[in-house]
Amino acid sequence: MDFEKTLNQVRKRFGVEVSVREDERSVFLGGECDNWENIVAIGKMFVTEGKHVVNDIRLAGHVEQPECLPKLTDNALEGTDWDVLVIGGGISGCAVARELSRYKLKILLVEKHSDVARGASGANDGMVHAGIDLKHQCLKLKYGVAGNAMYGDVCKELGVNFRRSGQYVIFDSRLIRFLAKSTVRRAVKHGIVGVKILNKKQIAEAEPRVKDFAVGALFAPSTGCVSPYQLTIAYAENAVQNGIVASLNTAVTAMTVENGKVAKVTTNRGTLAARCVVNCAGVFADKVAEMAGDRYFSIHPRRGTDLLLDPKAEGVPTQNISMGPTLKSVSKFGSGSTKGGGVIRTVDDNYLLGPDAVEVPDREDTSTCKQSFDNVFNKQSQVCPSLKRSDVIAYFSGVRAATYEEDFLIERSSKIANLVHVAGIQSPGITAAPAFSKDVAKTVAEYLTSVGVDVQQNPQFNPIRPRPVKANCLSDEERDKLVKKDPDFGKIVCRCEEISLGEIKQALRNPLGVRTIDGVKRRVRAGMGRCQGGFCMPLVTKIIAEEAGVALTEVNKDDDGSNVAVCKIKEVWL
Ligand SMILES: Cc1cc2nc3c(=O)[nH]c(=O)nc-3n(C[C@H](O)[C@H](O)[C@H](O)COP(=O)(O)OP(=O)(O)OC[C@H]3O[C@@H](n4cnc5c(N)ncnc54)[C@H](O)[C@@H]3O)c2cc1C
Repeated sequence: MDFEKTLNQVRKRFGVEVSVREDERSVFLGGECDNWENIVAIGKMFVTEGKHVVNDIRLAGHVEQPECLPKLTDNALEGTDWDVLVIGGGISGCAVARELSRYKLKILLVEKHSDVARGASGANDGMVHAGIDLKHQCLKLKYGVAGNAMYGDVCKELGVNFRRSGQYVIFDSRLIRFLAKSTVRRAVKHGIVGVKILNKKQIAEAEPRVKDFAVGALFAPSTGCVSPYQLTIAYAENAVQNGIVASLNTAVTAMTVENGKVAKVTTNRGTLAARCVVNCAGVFADKVAEMAGDRYFSIHPRRGTDLLLDPKAEGVPTQNISMGPTLKSVSKFGSGSTKGGGVIRTVDDNYLLGPDAVEVPDREDTSTCKQSFDNVFNKQSQVCPSLKRSDVIAYFSGVRAATYEEDFLIERSSKIANLVHVAGIQSPGITAAPAFSKDVAKTVAEYLTSVGVDVQQNPQFNPIRPRPVKANCLSDEERDKLVKKDPDFGKIVCRCEEISLGEIKQALRNPLGVRTIDGVKRRVRAGMGRCQGGFCMPLVTKIIAEEAGVALTEVNKDDDGSNVAVCKIKEVWL
């Protein structure tokens, strides 16, 4: 790359001076700028074949949000010794841990929050993408298409609901419909099955609620939907059932490197040793790499906001619908920052609108704002004008961990021999995880074998994670039988989602030992309905206190310090 030329373009476009240097792996940028979006745009200008961008241009006047770290400190892990340490309990870390549990190895998974699926894996759309928008020769495509094909089997093994519902990408012009033929050809080349173009009449028949302007649609039948947090939890639980150790409330804070290898890893629960370290730290993956002196890529956090609709909302498309490129935006289709969002019917039969894509300087900025709400709602209303703002019952944001190259970075470090990075796992990370986790486990096993570890198959490995009982999915006869056996399954605690006491107790006996209100919510959906926990949260708090044998004041909503009751005033808990 001609750096001088690019630096001149930066000066002209943004009026700032930045510094640039390179080594064999990366292009390093430095300097200062007063606009975060411009900093990200400058980073992208230096993307070059075969190298990663490390963008250290500072945002003038910005003080970085302190990282959210566990309050707990103890010595539970002090002096322990592991074959593999997996850092991060998102879908990447949990799927990798589960695939590694096929081997007879000592494996530790650490997650800094009080539960798994607290990063992007707990705040996304849960679409199992077909991959029609992905470019050639990228890992997102390789693992996205392979992961999509594995979903039916993986979800069956892990006892998680999955629906292959298909996706309709709507076109508002005949020209775009014509151009979409190349997308169909590309899909065939990439092994994405069944993609076809529908005409106006066919799309109207498939989904009558789309606006009259739809002149056609691209239909991708292999798109599916899953609950991303339930799948992440299921992966983690199956890994624990197969012998790995999961340590929650545990953050990696430092590493010591000796002879080109990570020798010691410091956490808030003690310092440990691991023969191999897998970095699945999401938006902190570059920070974890830096702890090992191996920072050769940057993550730039990209926030996405989703709106959740009441499942009883009327006039919402029953299919997954998204707006395709328009004449104005056609050149940006598949450009990487977002798939454009859509109206998504989740696997739990409520509807999501979104997400948008906003570059943010802080890695854990999951805030929501009116602008994102309006952007998402207005955009999706174009496709479906019958959407009503009053049907939005909640909204949330998740943060994508994007690299400047806009692709996954899944490889063994070329500098630190026992470090494997699973970084830059932005969308379609949920889709791709079943596929890349297998390759990562294989890479780890090969490395351990190469350094003399006797890596054997785990003879006790059981791929099946028992499916939790869901009373409202049973027939009347089945439910009757269940309630006779255990009357708790007949006592409804969450009215909106019809969740019984039996299901909540079952969730509290989870193999990860999670006993929080949000942990129950993620496992059985108590509190996810129209009232958003207004009715059932006090009841769930009481059930947790009783089950765990602790005072109400000790029950946390989520991480330590998020207790919902602080003291008793007369007879009322506050
Ligand atoms: C709004 C939005 C919508 C999306 N929609 C889709 C979609 O429809 N389909 C799809 O396929 N993908 C989607 N994605 C992408 C998908 O969510 C991510 O690719 C995936 O969840 C990334 O998983 P991960 O495990 O790599 O990261 P994360 O889920 O973020 O997990 C990383 C974990 O590491 C932990 N951690 C970090 N640092 C440390 C440390 N030092 N010590 C211990 N733990 C640490 C964090 O607490 C976190 O739990 C979406 C993303 C967003 C934000």
